[in-house]
Formats: sequence, structure tokens, C-alpha cells
Amino acid sequence: MIRVSGNLRIFQTEMRRLQMLDVVIVGAGPAGLSASVYAKRAALKALTLERDGMGGGQLAEAVQVENYPGFAQISGFNLAQAMRRHAEALGGAFETGEVSHVVQKQSHWEVQCADGTQYEARTVIAAAGTRRRKLEVPGEEQYAGHGVSYCATCDGAFFRGKTVAVIGGADTAVDDALYLSDLVETVYLVHRRDTLRANRRRQELLRTKRNVVCLWNTVVLAIHGKDQVTAFTTDTQGVKRTIPVDGVFIAVGAVPYTDWLPPETARDAAGYLLAGEDGKTNLPGLFAGGDIRHKPLRQAVTAVADGACCVASAEQYLHEKSKTPI
Ligand code: NAP
Repeated sequence: MIRVSGNLRIFQTEMRRLQMLDVVIVGAGPAGLSASVYAKRAALKALTLERDGMGGGQLAEAVQVENYPGFAQISGFNLAQAMRRHAEALGGAFETGEVSHVVQKQSHWEVQCADGTQYEARTVIAAAGTRRRKLEVPGEEQYAGHGVSYCATCDGAFFRGKTVAVIGGADTAVDDALYLSDLVETVYLVHRRDTLRANRRRQELLRTKRNVVCLWNTVVLAIHGKDQVTAFTTDTQGVKRTIPVDGVFIAVGAVPYTDWLPPETARDAAGYLLAGEDGKTNLPGLFAGGDIRHKPLRQAVTAVADGACCVASAEQYLHEKSKTPI
């Protein structure tokens, strides 16, 4: 990561707040980082906003990525860091800031952050991704951070030698179960169906793990504990059981991060943004790419492509606007 001195950084932040940017990219996962690279190459005045200063989005939490061309095997964190370094090496600008809302003005967008910082830009690229879906059972909220986790790679080490449950039956749940099986004594993989929906190669690997116990056709009714999680109750086709565990990892999918966008932004029934392959939404000057977009395949490789397409569309939009008399 390129480091700048404190005073220079404050000066740069101030400059970005005062000037009209060509594009603000909201999110620094694969779509946002790719957009940052393409924006820089297109010589646009661009700023990428990231929620927590870590960047990488959910990619950074992936234990092992085996489907990103050019890397037979790489950790999600390292891949995300490589993308980030690439953007920074080209001079891509990043600020930490959680966008609370964006407002469309006549000729530009106002981008408002939760801490009160405001930016102005001619276009906005929504690349904020998704956040983990909640299971919504009693005890989940109460024990979040006290045995209930949504990130195996972040929290798995706290459960070394213990017993945990992973809830879900698709890619994230299987990846989490695989990762945790190398750390903990026993993993219960709890799925509401009798078959998994995860990548077949990973399913085969899962079958070789002696300490992973699959609970099929099983739903979670509640999570229990004192200061920390101690057990969870399941229902397997009418048969209820309370099973002692030290941790519960919830991997039941994601919901798009779109609360900050105007209500009139077109979405599908699940809340994903309706934008074409070119990233164009129904609002002029607003483009959407990555997992936040309605699409058939949510992967790092499709997110990266989206980021590039959004910048190409933003460039075209800016070019056409520059020809329109005010
Ligand atoms: P997902 O594909 O949406 O799957 C969610 C899983 O949770 C499904 O098994 C679903 O059950 C289950 N589920 C949903 N709501 C539930 C509830 N209320 N109670 C119990 N179970 C519930 O989510 P994901 O696994 O997080 O994957 C998200 C995206 O990221 C996918 O496109 C995936 O391919 C991608 N991803 C890729 C990789 C990789 O390539 N290495 C790794 C992780 C994620 P049903 O099966 O019954 O619907």
C-alpha cells in the first residue's frame, strides 16, 4: 500500500471534497477496485470510498480462490490486496467513508457519508456489494460476537479445538466448514435440504473431512448461551434436538447493500439493482456493478468485468454530457 504523510493526506482529502469529481466509486471490492483501475487509465478524476479502510469486500474473506484466471490458488485476502495495490500504483485515490445517501442534482451527484463528509461527482458507480443475511432466530443477535459469527476466516481461530456449527448449504457454508474443519474438533454443517448447492469440487473435499457432520433437512430454531454460545436447537423433520456447540457460523447468503441509494433506483424482487451489462441503471449518471447488481453469476471475475464496464459507460456519459449545452 502506498503511504502518504498525515498532512499531505489531509490536504488531498480536502481537495477531493472541494472539487467536482468525474466519478465516485462506492465500494472497494473487486468491482470497485477494477473500476478504480479503469477510471485511472481513462484519466478520470475518481475517488473510491470504502466502508472500513480494509477494502476487498467479501473477496477478502474467502479462504481459497481457485477460479480467478491467472491464479491457480490464492487466498481471497491476497487477491484483494493485489487488486488494491494495482489501483494504488496507478494513482487511484481511496478514502474511508460509509456512504449514507446520494442525491441526484441537475448536473451532478452529491455523495453524503455518515460522518458528514460530502463529495460531489458527475457520476456514481455503485459497487457496494452485499452483506451477510441474518438467520433471524432467537439468540442470533444476542450472541453476535459472542459465539455467533458471519465470517469463518475472521473468527475461526477463536474456536480452535472446539465444536462449532455452520448454517447454510451453498458455497460460503461449504468453504466455511472446510476452513473450520482444520481448526476445530467438530463441525456440524446444518442445511435445510438433503443436498448441497455448493461447487462440486469443494463438496468432494468436504466428504473427506472426518470431523464434519452434516445435519440434513434441518433448520435452526434457536441459539442458546450464557456469556457465550453454549448450544443450539434444531428441528429435523419434526424432531427437535439441542446440541452443545461453542460457536455458530451463519452462511445463509447475502442481501445487497443498497439502503444508501435513492428509492427510485430500479431493483429486482430481492433488492439487487437492475442494471445492464453496461452497468447503466435507470438513473442517469448512476452505474452499478459487482454483487450489488442483478446478475446470474456472482463471482470475483464477473465483478471485475462489471467494474470495467461501469467506467466505460461513465466515460461515454461524461463525453455526451460535455457536448450538451447547459
Ligand atoms: P447463497 O448462494 O445465496 O446460498 C445461501 C445458502 O443458505 C443456501 O444453501 C440456502 O439454502 C441457505 N439459506 C438461505 N436462507 C436460509 C435460512 N433462512 N435458513 C437456512 N438456510 C438458508 O449464498 P453464499 O453461499 O453466501 O454465496 C453467495 C454468492 O457468492 C454465490 O453466488 C456464490 O457462488 C458466491 N461464492 C463463491 C465462492 C467461490 O467461488 N469460492 C465462495 C463463496 C461464495 P437453499 O440451498 O435451500 O436455498
